[in-house]
Amino acid sequence: MCYKRSEVKILVTAGPTREAIDPVRFISNRSSGKMGYAVAEVAAQRGHDVCLVSGPTQLAVPEGVTCENVVSAADMLDAVVRHLSGCEALVMTAAVADWRPCCVHAQKIKKSGAGMSIELERTPDILLSISDRKGDRVFVGFAAETGDPVPEAHRKCRAKSLDLVVANDVSVVDAGFGSDNNRVTFVTLDGTEQTFPLQPKRTVAANILDWIESHRTSA
Ligand code: C5P
Repeated sequence: MCYKRSEVKILVTAGPTREAIDPVRFISNRSSGKMGYAVAEVAAQRGHDVCLVSGPTQLAVPEGVTCENVVSAADMLDAVVRHLSGCEALVMTAAVADWRPCCVHAQKIKKSGAGMSIELERTPDILLSISDRKGDRVFVGFAAETGDPVPEAHRKCRAKSLDLVVANDVSVVDAGFGSDNNRVTFVTLDGTEQTFPLQPKRTVAANILDWIESHRTSA
C-alpha cells in the first residue's frame, strides 16, 4: 500500500483493561477511554491511518478508525505486537491494569461468612515488552498520577524508551479520568517540559499529533 507523505500510520491504545477474578468479577480502573478515542478521532480527521486497540469503554469508534477490542493487559499486548510492525507512531493512552489475579477461577467464587484475599501478580508492561522493537517509530506514553506527575513522567520517559510522555494529575476534579478536559504537561526524552492550561481532550489530542507530525523521522 502507498501512503501519502503527510500520512502517518498511528497505533493508539485506549481505555482500561480488565483482569478476571472469576467469570463474573474483575479488577480494573476508572479510565473512560476518552483521551485515546480523541487522539484516534483527530488523527483520522487529519487523514492519518489509525488503528485503535481499545479496552472496554462506552465510546463509539470514531469514523475512519479501525478498532480492535481487547479485554486484558495480555490481550492488549498481543494486539499491540501484531499491529506494531505496520505503524510509525504509537500513542499508549491505555490505563493498563498494573496487577492481575495469579489464578482465574473457572467458576464464580462462592461467598462465605469470612473475608477473602486474592493474590495478585504484575501484568506485562506493554511498552517495556516492545521497547526493543521501537526502531525509528515515535513512542508516546502517558503518566497519570495523583499529585505532581512531572517527576514520574521524566522517569517513565527514560525507563520505557518514550519520545514523549503526557503527564496529568488524575486527582483533580475538572480533568483526567472520565472528564472531557485534561490539563497536561509534555515531557520529552531530552528533558524538556511544556505545560498546557485546562483544555478539551480533543485539543490535547491535536497537540500530541502536532508533536508526532513534527518529530517523526520519516517526515
Ligand atoms: O501505568 P504507568 O503509569 O506505568 O503507565 C505509563 C505508560 O505505560 C502509559 O502510556 C501506559 O499505557 C503504559 N503501560 C504499559 N503497560 C503496562 C502499564 C502501563 O504499556 N502494564
